[in-house]
Amino acid sequence: MTKNLNLSRKMVVGTFVICGLLLIIVSVTPQVKPGHKFYFPDKAPIVTDDKEVTTKIVVGDNESEGRYTVLSDLWKPGFSVSTHYHARHTETFYLVSGEAEWTVDGEKHAMKAGDAVYIPANAPHSARTLGNKPAHFILIYSAGDYESHLRRELKYTEQEKKDPKVKELLRELNDFNVVIKKP
Ligand SMILES: [Zn+2]
Repeated sequence: MTKNLNLSRKMVVGTFVICGLLLIIVSVTPQVKPGHKFYFPDKAPIVTDDKEVTTKIVVGDNESEGRYTVLSDLWKPGFSVSTHYHARHTETFYLVSGEAEWTVDGEKHAMKAGDAVYIPANAPHSARTLGNKPAHFILIYSAGDYESHLRRELKYTEQEKKDPKVKELLRELNDFNVVIKKP
């Protein structure tokens, strides 16, 4: 009888110890939410790196579940984008450093660090860097499928991308609609 009592006491104490240990483990384990992401520029891979633009993905399409893509874009001096519009996407450009000129729906501004521009769908816009320093932008592209555009482009070689038919197809799929100015 006494033996049984001792044994059950030991079991109760043992259960308390195990529960206590489990509580400690749970409380010190960081709570990781699925899909969350930290962005550190030095560690982020470069997804586009040509003579004119260097792009890194701050928040990807998958992480935001397609809501938006956030990009870090470094425009080299002399870079410009001709007038175009996006039928299904909006863009917000926040200038971190450097200077650039933006024209949206005919309204033109020289932008410096801290300035931002929101471009709704179907608004014709163009941009160019000013001065001899690169312009660093944070771009919020919504809906978030910028990465799928990049993946699509990777299927073509640089030579193939020069083919007018491929160019046209990519522009259409990537929702990049060039505005041809009347002479
Ligand atoms: Zn655009």
